[in-house]
Amino acid sequence: LDDFRKEDLLAGYDNREAESEDELEIEAKSIAEERRKLPVFPYREELIKAVHEYQVLVVVGETGSGKTTQIPQYLIEEGFGGVCCTQPRRVAAMSVAARVATEVGCKLGSKVGYSIRFEDCTSDKTVIKYMTDGMLLREFLSEPDLGQYHVIIIDEAHERSLSTDIAMGLVKDIARARGDSIRIIISSATLNAEKFRDYFDDAPIFNIPGRRYPVDIYYTKAPEADYLDACCVSVLQIHASQPPGDILVFLTGQEEIETAVEILNQRTRGLGSKVQELMIAPIYSTLPADMQAKIFEPTPPGARKVVLATNIAETSVTIPGIVYVIDPGFCKQKSYNPKTGMESLIVVPVSRAGAVQRTGRAGRTQPGKCFRMFTKWSFYNEMEEDTIPEILRTNLAQVVLLLKSLGIDDLINFDFIDAPPSEVLIKSLEQLYALGALNDRGELTKLGRRMAELPLDPMMAKSLIGSEKYSCSEEVATICAMLSVNNSIFYRPKDKGVIADAARAAFARGGGGDHMALLNCYNQWRDSGFSTQWCYENFVQARSIKQARDVRDQLDGLMDRVEVEKTSNLDGDAICKAIASGFFYNATRLEKGGTYRTLKNPHTVHIHPSSCLFKSEKLPRWLIYHELVFTTKEFMRQVIQIESAWLLEIAPFYYQSKELEDQTKAKLPKVVGKASTTT
Ligand code: ADP
Ligand code: MG
Repeated sequence: LDDFRKEDLLAGYDNREAESEDELEIEAKSIAEERRKLPVFPYREELIKAVHEYQVLVVVGETGSGKTTQIPQYLIEEGFGGVCCTQPRRVAAMSVAARVATEVGCKLGSKVGYSIRFEDCTSDKTVIKYMTDGMLLREFLSEPDLGQYHVIIIDEAHERSLSTDIAMGLVKDIARARGDSIRIIISSATLNAEKFRDYFDDAPIFNIPGRRYPVDIYYTKAPEADYLDACCVSVLQIHASQPPGDILVFLTGQEEIETAVEILNQRTRGLGSKVQELMIAPIYSTLPADMQAKIFEPTPPGARKVVLATNIAETSVTIPGIVYVIDPGFCKQKSYNPKTGMESLIVVPVSRAGAVQRTGRAGRTQPGKCFRMFTKWSFYNEMEEDTIPEILRTNLAQVVLLLKSLGIDDLINFDFIDAPPSEVLIKSLEQLYALGALNDRGELTKLGRRMAELPLDPMMAKSLIGSEKYSCSEEVATICAMLSVNNSIFYRPKDKGVIADAARAAFARGGGGDHMALLNCYNQWRDSGFSTQWCYENFVQARSIKQARDVRDQLDGLMDRVEVEKTSNLDGDAICKAIASGFFYNATRLEKGGTYRTLKNPHTVHIHPSSCLFKSEKLPRWLIYHELVFTTKEFMRQVIQIESAWLLEIAPFYYQSKELEDQTKAKLPKVVGKASTTT
């Protein structure tokens, strides 16, 4: 059987690109050995049989057993047509697709490809397509029965991301309509698969038994005041005292990971040559693809790798060689208050289920150790049992807009796996009405239809379409693109902090706030001929801004499709008005003491220390924020200066002039906001 399989595997893929065919073949052969060792392999035939037999199948297996990388290949090898496999995270979609392309022995984007927002790496040859769950939702818009796919795999279903939940609802619907021409696999890591079985009318559960080695768990005796520092200390202790094996540290996001990289670099530099090399490999969603690949590079003998990861490494990506896990017990989560309509990112304790998953990562290939940076008491008494599904803690405006565009009007009776509270649905309808996407009967307007065509948050979509009126769509598209690369444009090395800050301040000199600074930065870079040298000189992250350019190019095409007229206008007021036409919801007014208060549902918020207005001598009276982040306080990240009169002009149904009167006629404080710079 083994020999048969090898030939079979290679025979299926004779269309490989010519350039390094021999190399690809050799690599594919040795990988074929590896593939056979995965826990899912012995179940290949049985699994295929089950897929033939049942329209919907729930597949459950330990992480790392080969569900994501192997099952689509098995299906194609057995003659199934197009297979798509969704992932809640873009990094996972990209990295898994790259891996599978290598296994298959083809170029990424040919037989195996991926599709994520603003990046389509597929072709008409693609038969295995990994994509984010959000992209699958968008495909419903262009092809409501998803006719191009024979098998749809909703992977990482246990994550219960918002888009996965909605995708399951829609897929369940087309399963009824398409009958035998479609197969659906719901794939999940944990063992509460019964929920999916029940939701899909008693679909059978296919269990892939995994192997797992014991993991010793260590707790801290007392809560850690500074868990980031505690993690770094632990990494160095493990490195100095423990037998070989790589380390995986779970952190909450990019900023934290970058800080940890810096701390570790600094401290290992001081250790001299007596200690073995420590390879530091970060991974988070906006990290460029070539840097992501570093986590999979084999650790050279004698060295040790430490992977600093977000939740992505909890289940979606399996990194070989991990023996030690360090878990501070936190993750970043969206939280939403339907009363105020405010959404913010907050750092929260993980659930017990999450902590158990993280621990499991240490025992995949040999017995391991997990260091929990929290107390045993806290694990049993303070942590929630399970993570709350995203649909129950997020703003649903984008989903509601999508469902409306698919002709699904009766949202209250939509078959949600967990129905969101009706007040959240109502709030979303209100918000879409205020944006002009729905009329007073709750029907989609022409504007709403155009907004739904754009793969952007409804507020952003409205700003982009709204920019037509102010003849500045080119500028607003640039701002959208720059905002989409998530706070990673400006580079600030600690030893050159002052010069970096000055370079950054120069972009903001024209006023307007962070959005305008981003625009100036992009335009200057463009005028330099997209020069990398210019980036170095101006402390701009070349990779990030190039990513922004790619997004910008995509937006350009989308604007053609949605027929947004392309016009350019550098007038700051016009640009700020256009942004405000989508984000008027996020308007705030200056209070005494240099804090701001949101207009509807008054609530105190602060300018984020990373904002160019943070240290400004004279704070603007009115600001609109792009997003809220809750760390030590509720911070507004990326703010733009507006005038209150604009709100009346832009959102006359939403604001009344009384709400927009200046209540603080008194002199405002001069220098503020230095109380805390910790974020
Ligand atoms: P599951 O989906 O069941 O969690 P996967 O299919 O993601 O499992 O992983 C199967 C195996 O493939 C794992 O052992 C993992 O280490 C390996 N793998 C995945 N991606 C890569 C990669 N880029 N490089 C090397 N190995 C990889
Ligand atoms: Mg997987």
